[in-house]
Amino acid sequence: MASIFTKIVNGEIPSYKVAENDDFFAFLDINPNAAGHTLVIPKKEENKIFDLSKEEYAGLMDFSYRVAKALEKTVACERIGMSVIGLEVPHVHVHLIPISTMADMQFMKKQQLSNEEFIDLASRIAANFI
Ligand code: 5GP
Repeated sequence: MASIFTKIVNGEIPSYKVAENDDFFAFLDINPNAAGHTLVIPKKEENKIFDLSKEEYAGLMDFSYRVAKALEKTVACERIGMSVIGLEVPHVHVHLIPISTMADMQFMKKQQLSNEEFIDLASRIAANFI
């Protein structure tokens, strides 16, 4: 069965898209640690990051780098934190999180955002993506 993230890539489930190319897709996390928390995924469904080929892994990191640069330009923060967990959704995803404190990386402090705020954030990050 297709993962929830594959359904997002296919447009079967809505998302706040930030960036996309043939192989990768970036969108806002629906339950963000901080405003701008973005997930970057390979379109190819793989459960664990280190089961990707070296080339797929390098491609994911390259795309994540570009998204992180856009994020850092868009959202006020100390830096962009990066984390890979995958215990909830078995489809490889890189968390890119604008952080100012360690608590922002702990997946406990959550930020409530309105639909309008998600739309605004996604479009501003997308505008800075090169
Ligand atoms: P992990 O698998 O790394 O533990 O966490 C999965 C992440 O995916 C969580 O931060 C969660 O908020 C996010 N997530 C789960 N389902 C959805 C969804 O349907 N849409 C979006 N945008 N994010 C999701």
